[in-house]
Amino acid sequence: MRFDIATLFPEMCEAVMGESIIGRARRAGLIQLYCHQIRDYTLDKHRRVDDSPYGGGKGMVMQAEPIYRCWQAVCAQLQEKPHVIYMSPKGSVFTQKKACELSEKKNIFVICGHYEGVDQRVIDKIVDEEISIGDYVLTGGELPAMVMCDSVSRMVPGVLAAEECFTEESHFGGLLEYPHYTRPEVWEGMEVPPVLLTGHHKNITAWRHEQAVKITAERRPDMLADMKE
Ligand code: SAM
Repeated sequence: MRFDIATLFPEMCEAVMGESIIGRARRAGLIQLYCHQIRDYTLDKHRRVDDSPYGGGKGMVMQAEPIYRCWQAVCAQLQEKPHVIYMSPKGSVFTQKKACELSEKKNIFVICGHYEGVDQRVIDKIVDEEISIGDYVLTGGELPAMVMCDSVSRMVPGVLAAEECFTEESHFGGLLEYPHYTRPEVWEGMEVPPVLLTGHHKNITAWRHEQAVKITAERRPDMLADMKE
């Protein structure tokens, strides 16, 4: 799968997406990620990409044309239209379900906003959906884009060692995950739950499920209610 990120800070995205599991997946060719400097697509000789808002008010607005031209260049490269996402606090809130859905896409073009956001007309013209990473406002769309791309990428077959790495995790099946323990057996006087030392897989699976339900009921009763619907 391929991501094309339209951003004013490509180095910021490269730094995050060049490391760890996602960096390895990119080097292995499982994921392609290209960062595009929006300023490279402005026709302004000073490489300006923003202007003051019509109607007045504070802050600046990112202009439609450089983003549109960047999208056109990517469409020409791909020879098809990618799925276009604008990272925005006004979008629908990102979930594990959405990560799974997006991992089926071949090409995703992500627009990272800044200042007060981007001219509504380019959103109306090319954006398929607006996605928020939560009910708070950040200074730019790069961190939200990286959060989304990381989460989508780990759903791509081959990126994680095995599918169970994500199917058993929090949110995938509607529950939060059970607790984990590793060596030593006793640490600071605290023991590993005895069932985990038995090697009895059926009992371990049952204990883990019980724990997952308990933790979800304590921390996120809304998730259990959703599962019953
Ligand atoms: N004026 C906008 C509003 O009130 O909805 C906020 C603009 S914000 C300061 C600048 C950019 O950061 C946005 O265009 C968006 O790309 C990104 N951004 C900020 N918070 C976000 C969030 N929770 N989820 C996704 N993107 C976000």
